[in-house]
Order: sequence, then C-alpha cells, then structure tokens
Amino acid sequence: MASYRYLIVGGGLTADGACKGIREVDKDGSIAVVGEEPHPPYLRPPLSKGLWKGDPESDIWRGTGDLGVDLVLSRRIVSLDLWAHEATDDRGETYGYERVLFATGGRPRRLPVGGDDVIYYRTLDDYRRLVDGIHARLPHASIGSDMIVGFPGETDGDFAANVAYLPASPLTHLHVFPYSDRPGTEATGMRNKVHGSVIRDRGIELRRIGSDLSARFRASQVGTVRPGLTLEDGTLVVTDNYLKVRVAPGLRRNERVSVRLTSPAEGLLQPSIADSCEPTASGDR
Ligand SMILES: Cc1cc2nc3c(=O)[nH]c(=O)nc-3n(C[C@H](O)[C@H](O)[C@H](O)COP(=O)(O)OP(=O)(O)OC[C@H]3O[C@@H](n4cnc5c(N)ncnc54)[C@H](O)[C@@H]3O)c2cc1C
Repeated sequence: MASYRYLIVGGGLTADGACKGIREVDKDGSIAVVGEEPHPPYLRPPLSKGLWKGDPESDIWRGTGDLGVDLVLSRRIVSLDLWAHEATDDRGETYGYERVLFATGGRPRRLPVGGDDVIYYRTLDDYRRLVDGIHARLPHASIGSDMIVGFPGETDGDFAANVAYLPASPLTHLHVFPYSDRPGTEATGMRNKVHGSVIRDRGIELRRIGSDLSARFRASQVGTVRPGLTLEDGTLVVTDNYLKVRVAPGLRRNERVSVRLTSPAEGLLQPSIADSCEPTASGDR
C-alpha cells in the first residue's frame, strides 16, 4: 500500500490549486492526486470558450505533475476508512494518508430521457465527443447567428469584445439588427441608450465581419455537392447548408436538386447572389 502525507481525491482545478498551495508551505511532503478522469488537471472554461475559437488543447493543462505529485488517473475512490487513514479505489488499490482532501467537484443531474444521446458537458472527453460528433455528422454545417447592435447599455467594450470574437468563431453567417426603440417595449424605457450614429457604424462593422465569415464558408464549400431547393424563377438554389447559389435557367421553382459548388462568391456584399454553380443532377423531382 502506498502512503502519502497528502491524499487528494479528484483531479480537477481544486486539486491542482491544493497541490500548488501545499507546495508553498511544504516543498517535499508526498502528495497523491487520485482522479477518475484519464487526464491530469486541466482548465475547464476553455472547453466552452477558447477551444471552439481554435485555441490549442495544449493551453489547458495545469502542470500539476511538475510539482512532484503522484497522479493516479482513471481511478475512482470508492471508500474511505477515517480511523485507519486509508482510501480505496475502484480497482481495490488502497492509499494511506496523513491528511485527505475531497476535491470531487459536482456532477450534472441526469435527465430521465435521452440516454447516451445527451452530452452532459463537463469534461475534456465530453468536448472531444461533441466536436467529433459535429464533424462526423454535419461536416458541412452552416452556423448562423442573429446579432443586435446598439441595445441600450451596450458599451464600446461590449462591442469590441464581439468584434474580437467573431472573426475566429465557427459562425458562417450573421444577421445584424440595429436596435431601434419600439413604443411599449421594456427596452424603450432603459437608460444608457446608444447614439444612432454609433449604432449605424457598429452595424456596418458587424455586417462587414458577417460578409467575411460567409465568404470564408462559401470558399470552404467549393467542390462539394449539396442538396438544395430551387426558388424564384428556378435559377436560385438554397442548399441544405444555407448557401444561395445561381444555376442556369431550365429548372422550375420549388424543385429538389443537387448542385456542385464550382467557385467561391465574388460579390461579398451580395451574399444572396452566389457565384456560378451548375446543377449536377436533379433529385426527387
Ligand atoms: C464547460 C465548462 C465551462 C466552464 N466555464 C467556466 C468559466 O468560464 N468560469 C468559471 O468560473 N467557471 C467555469 N466552469 C466551472 C469550473 O470549471 C468549475 O467550477 C471547476 O472546474 C470546479 O473545479 P473542481 O476541481 O472543484 O471540480 P471539477 O472540475 O468537477 O473536478 C472534480 C474532479 O474530481 C473527479 N472525481 C469525482 N469524484 C471522484 C472520486 N470519487 N474519485 C476520484 N475522482 C473523482 C471528477 O471526475 C473530476 O475530474 C466551467 C465548467 C464547465 C464544465
């Protein structure tokens, strides 16, 4: 049986903080961290933020192992003998300790429906499962967002944060609404209104970013074949991933077709008028 001066149950951020705190006052005392995840302590906030914007996974690790700590991973402590100062994990391994800290965090409540199809988003492995699932099931997904600019109280800093975030975001198109007062709404009575000229300028800036995002997405789709539906006089097709493309005359309106995207958009300010595309096959006509 291994014995430690300090035993920490749970391998999250609290465990990492505890190890660092211990090392400030006790340079040599033996420490073990027993965690049920297969990973050493890592930052969780990037799982829902930085990683989706392209930050590398290597940024999340806390370096706990560099503190001279025994990291015992993929093990769950299942019992504790307070009199004997011993803890036992799910494989029957026992750990002696002088002092023990429970840093086991929380667990989401599980829904009575959904089973394995619901991802309870807590861990690095949950993040990887979600990313892999999106890429596997919807590799050509288009993700759009409505953005309101100039809502009362929106500061220069708030707007700058949007401008900093959006270009590297996974969004593929923006629908920008400039705020305007509507009688009888709660917002009309709010203070810190944004001046009209500022709202207009912010709207122009966000639309420019939106055009760039759309252009990037359209360029990434060149060469793909997508199902779509003809609109207007039959020369406009909206694909299943929300690209609007022009095709040669000859199709009726409201027909299901497949189109091959042959080139990226040229007129970025008119994203509804796409580059030339050729219908490759008609679908369920
Ligand atoms: C996706 C996401 C984004 C977040 N973003 C933010 C943010 O932006 N700002 C913010 O302040 N907070 C954020 N949080 C919350 C923050 O991450 C948590 O408050 C923090 O992780 C808590 O740390 P912890 O070590 O106490 O618990 P946890 O991080 O939950 O770690 C506990 C660990 O103990 C393990 N464990 C549990 N029981 C046992 C056992 N019996 N034996 C062995 N191991 C066990 C668990 O598997 C887990 O690895 C976010 C959380 C998530 C999930």
